Amino acid sequence: MDRILNYIDGAFALPHEGRFLENYAPRDGSVYGQIPDSTAADVDRAVAAAKAAFPAWQALKRQDRAQYLSKIADGIEKKIDLFAEAESRDQGKPIHLARSMDIPRAVENFRFFAGAILHQQEKAFQTSPEVLNYTRREPMGVAGLISPWNLPLYLLTWKIAPALAAGNTAVAKPSELTPATAFLLAQVFDEVGLPKGVCNLVFGLGEKAGDALVAHPDVPLISFTGGTETAAIIGRRAAPLYKKISFELGGKNPALIFADCDLEAALTTTVRSSFLNQGEICLCTSRLFVQESLLPKFTELFIERVRQLKVGDPESKDSFMGALVSAEHLEKVQGFVQRARAQGLKILCGGERLAPTAALQKGYYFAPTVISTPDASAEIMQEEVFGPVVTITPFRDYADAVEKANRTRYGLAATIWTQNLETAHHAAADIKAGQIWVNTWMLRDLRVPFGGMKDSGIGREGGDYSLEFYTEEKNICLQLGRNRL
Ligand code: NDP
Repeated sequence: MDRILNYIDGAFALPHEGRFLENYAPRDGSVYGQIPDSTAADVDRAVAAAKAAFPAWQALKRQDRAQYLSKIADGIEKKIDLFAEAESRDQGKPIHLARSMDIPRAVENFRFFAGAILHQQEKAFQTSPEVLNYTRREPMGVAGLISPWNLPLYLLTWKIAPALAAGNTAVAKPSELTPATAFLLAQVFDEVGLPKGVCNLVFGLGEKAGDALVAHPDVPLISFTGGTETAAIIGRRAAPLYKKISFELGGKNPALIFADCDLEAALTTTVRSSFLNQGEICLCTSRLFVQESLLPKFTELFIERVRQLKVGDPESKDSFMGALVSAEHLEKVQGFVQRARAQGLKILCGGERLAPTAALQKGYYFAPTVISTPDASAEIMQEEVFGPVVTITPFRDYADAVEKANRTRYGLAATIWTQNLETAHHAAADIKAGQIWVNTWMLRDLRVPFGGMKDSGIGREGGDYSLEFYTEEKNICLQLGRNRL
């Protein structure tokens, strides 16, 4: 049985109260490991270690910090197979997906910010010949980093890399559902000799360990990726302490498929954007809006392709989708589909739990599901399912499409499928979402601003946006008298 330990002050540590939680394998529903059930005492120790490490870490030349980040990237890359297998076993996604998407992106996160920190610029303002203003960007101290279970290492390192590059030290709390690759990451920190206390990992429940981190007086900054409801709780805890906050939250992302689109490209990419990673990516498409004249043809071809998607053993190279992350999440997804059915919505395909083989029948598999609904206000079109379930709804014209796409509390991402430049250009402006893709999906450049509008988040991360978030800008005004020359 794998036992995970906290990583505090450069050493692996038992949780203070000695209690552990069970870690389940989504593939077959078995318990395969233990995770520390950390408490405020563990968080206190981790924050104290990070606070003690901060002066020396921030004083390092940025080239030296960049070198540590590069070594961490190399350390992960060397063990890519180990990381990919651990991510798959813990999360349920196919190993080949973890190997081609999650782990390479984690490597890239460290490499990218190792480079970005070398190119960070400050500003200068010549106010008059004798007055110069210039800015300094200073790290803030101990960064509190809280991440979710869907892209465990990918999203954890998207926070750790810029936080450390900018000169902060960190205490991170990964999701209790998917701690395995964070634990492997701590081993890489150890191997590359990252100074002790610079990055600490505390495992456990959000309501205990996560809450203690959010409320800790020595943590001036919280970067949180997770659900919109959790963010409201964190906001209430952090606001009276005047913490700097970044929230990357849920989505209900629309795809607008206009009649003039490149149908083949729209179909291929929309199948992927709907069901990659079992639909458990915050950027996955969940609401398809198709122009009336194209609807019958698009629906027929879409369903045909969705039926061909292989849901299977995450260890198999042929599986496009693996298992959902937990029994609880499977139940939540099933609940949404059952209620949609009860409301009279038409399930065009899927809608049921699967068992790829007899040995895997206790695993959390769910068929890719497509639901037809003319009602853009139905629960299934308003609440985030975060699983392999999408809806198809017709739209009449441009105005109808934009109105329906915007009829949600979320505003994370959208895709637009059209060959008409004007349609694309206007829809990109009219849709309220932080990321718009035109005739593509999930094409990421790590320099661009990433974040959601409306209830999908606060702030932007990525490239210089991350470095801005993880630093505080100070202005210095110099009076340069000539009389002393
Ligand atoms: P949750 O909000 O349940 O949890 C996210 C993290 O917060 C976990 O580590 C969790 O701990 C922790 N947490 C829970 N309660 C608290 C609390 N009171 N105080 C501090 N920390 C807490 O989200 P999920 O893990 O279920 O992730 C799915 C959600 O994340 C979806 O809504 C998805 O859209 C969103 N997401 C957004 C992304 C974006 O970039 N916008 C990217 C990926 C996901 P634990 O789980 O251990 O209890």
